[in-house]
Amino acid sequence: MRWSEHQIAMLREMGVRLWPTEPETTASDRASPPTERAADPVAAASSVGTMDWPALRETVAACTACKLCESRRQTVFGVGSTRAHWMIVGEAPGEQEDRQGEPFVGKSGQLLDNMLRTVALTRGEDAEPAHQVYIANTLKCRPPGNRNPQPDELAQCEGFLIRQVQLLQPKIILAMGAFAVQSLLRSTEPVGRLRGRVHHYQGVPLVVTYHPAYLLRNLVDKAKAWDDLCLAVEVARGSV
Ligand code: URA
Repeated sequence: MRWSEHQIAMLREMGVRLWPTEPETTASDRASPPTERAADPVAAASSVGTMDWPALRETVAACTACKLCESRRQTVFGVGSTRAHWMIVGEAPGEQEDRQGEPFVGKSGQLLDNMLRTVALTRGEDAEPAHQVYIANTLKCRPPGNRNPQPDELAQCEGFLIRQVQLLQPKIILAMGAFAVQSLLRSTEPVGRLRGRVHHYQGVPLVVTYHPAYLLRNLVDKAKAWDDLCLAVEVARGSV
């Protein structure tokens, strides 16, 4: 991958160092067989599994399946073009997201947008689908005080994310952080052990990476997140 001056400047700003002489890892080094979860039968069996985008959005907005509905300002459904080739899955809305109704609008969202811009990706609706990302969370409501999602909340919300994946049919999923991994891959392995190779979810290639909020606290791992993004770019292009 070659970088323009602008991209290099942005990478420096993100604290990412480039090693132009570093040997490229080949596709076969990193790809793992598609052994992870198939489509969830529970979601398929429920009415959520047949909804179109507007019906799904309305159902999420009216959801009272768990106690998070009592403390939320609003639900945070997802953002981006429904034609996007990329799907990015985070954890749960924070305070800013709960206020604005859009995922990743706080500090971690700024870092995410900067990283995406560096590889010509955007949540904006004007770009070509290959350059667009659709961003969603495992939970559609903010856990109070930004505490971790609880297992019952993840279970209640899971059908919505499954349907979002089915409707979007992305070419690549980027799962950011432990809870996205837990929901999508049913794995409690640390992110550090799952990153760096290609998994699959509902037949879609999936790359695991660190959550941007984690990266803001652990600058040293930004370079690894950068590698993960580059791997995802290769997968989306079909070269892995
Ligand atoms: N962190 C997340 O995982 N999702 C958001 O939408 C915001 C912060």
